[in-house]
Amino acid sequence: MRGRCLCGAIKFEIDTPVQTCVNCHCESCRRQCSAPMTTYVGVLDTQWRWTSEAPKVYKSSPGVERTFCANCGTPISFRSERMSGIMHLYVAALEEPEKIVPTLHVAHEEKLPWLKLADGLPTRIGPDYTKD
Ligand SMILES: [Zn+2]
Repeated sequence: MRGRCLCGAIKFEIDTPVQTCVNCHCESCRRQCSAPMTTYVGVLDTQWRWTSEAPKVYKSSPGVERTFCANCGTPISFRSERMSGIMHLYVAALEEPEKIVPTLHVAHEEKLPWLKLADGLPTRIGPDYTKD
């Protein structure tokens, strides 16, 4: 599947099936995306590639890198040293975001109280989707 930023300067490809697809309510994702929550896919480093120049990198906290298009500002990805070898790309940047469906909410304790979701998906405390 292909993805891109708003202006098209940043482009990427991922190979499906993805490892995970998660809705995240953490404050860092909320601030980077300037949105009440975000949805990302996790893919192995062997499963994705930039097909344009690479986006600009912002280190949002120790061990965490977030990327965005330096031209139009679109958030593209984040990665954490705590989940090395995995890249997380924002589903809304995909050309066909409807084709990958989230299965979980993480950092649910940080969810904005006015955001009411009735998808019935399981929730996790904290940002780690690998924990039960
Ligand atoms: Zn752009």
